[in-house]
Amino acid sequence: MIPDLKMKLSVIIPCHNEQNNVGFLIQALTKTLNETEYNFELIFVDDGSSDDTVNEIKFNAGIYPNVFYIELSKNFGKDNALKAGISMATGSAVITMDADMQHPPGMIIKMLQFWEEGYDIVYTYRENANPHAKLYQKVTSRLFYKGINMLSDIKLEDGTSDFRLMDERVIKDLKLIDEHELFLRGIIKWAGFKQAGIPYTPSKRHTGEVSYSFAKLVKLAIGSIMAFSARPLYIMTGVGLTVSLMTIFYIPYVLISFAEGYAVNGWASIIATIAFFGGLQLMVLSIIGVYVGKIFMQSKARPNYLIRSTNLVNVNNDLIRV
Ligand code: UDP
Ligand code: MG
Repeated sequence: MIPDLKMKLSVIIPCHNEQNNVGFLIQALTKTLNETEYNFELIFVDDGSSDDTVNEIKFNAGIYPNVFYIELSKNFGKDNALKAGISMATGSAVITMDADMQHPPGMIIKMLQFWEEGYDIVYTYRENANPHAKLYQKVTSRLFYKGINMLSDIKLEDGTSDFRLMDERVIKDLKLIDEHELFLRGIIKWAGFKQAGIPYTPSKRHTGEVSYSFAKLVKLAIGSIMAFSARPLYIMTGVGLTVSLMTIFYIPYVLISFAEGYAVNGWASIIATIAFFGGLQLMVLSIIGVYVGKIFMQSKARPNYLIRSTNLVNVNNDLIRV
């Protein structure tokens, strides 16, 4: 694809408590993108921050004509914040990245090269475990990628990030996806198109704290895996079948014991068996329950996010300031 002066890039940045990173990122992105032949718009999505992030974004939007903001009505989570940005993006390519400088803006140049070569999606994955991450983050991250690769039909590289470039033809389809539990990394892999993956080494967080606690990470990991695959249900069917087969050997033992007259000695084994099957049934039921819950949430068809305020409207694929 030959760069065209009129072509525009949209950069979408979800922010949750990033008040001291916004200005810094705008400077860094402006410097990098001014070296390219593209126009660009920066769309900041405030995901229910409790600090001054939203005012910081609004302040910058007042200074720079290509900075836009979407203020969500509360914290909806990063994927939903990204969806809010994507739904407004008008660029020929859309780049999503974190606000904390962990996704090096310089990498965008490399992404653009792949895009110009004709790739529709250029995603990134961490080359090495994030040297700045805490131990619990490294462990949950590894378990998450192992889990999702084992339990679903997609294969994600270890450390696949939300730092990626997508062509407008991908964005057009992405805008139509309506999933209550949105997991963009998985959806992008599932989507196909011409994809290139490039490794990167995350930088240190510029300022502030990581938004995810251990509990939030575990919840997100289980939610994403179950939202993306029905395989846990099939695995449970397998476990159920295996246990049923095992009883084929157990029943003759019970019958022989009965015939030989010492059946009453089996109290311990009866209790053990009841406890085992009771536990197994509860586990299977709860897994089914989680899926039913997800159907329930999806069937309500609530929007992924609500907007409290924004300075843009998308009119005929052009962002208009309001
Ligand atoms: N973020 C968000 N909503 C959330 C949590 C995080 O928009 O509920 C944003 C955050 O501001 C940052 C990006 O998502 O721009 C990544 O979050 P963070 O740096 O806290 O986590 P990491 O990916 O580094 O573990
Ligand atoms: Mg970060």
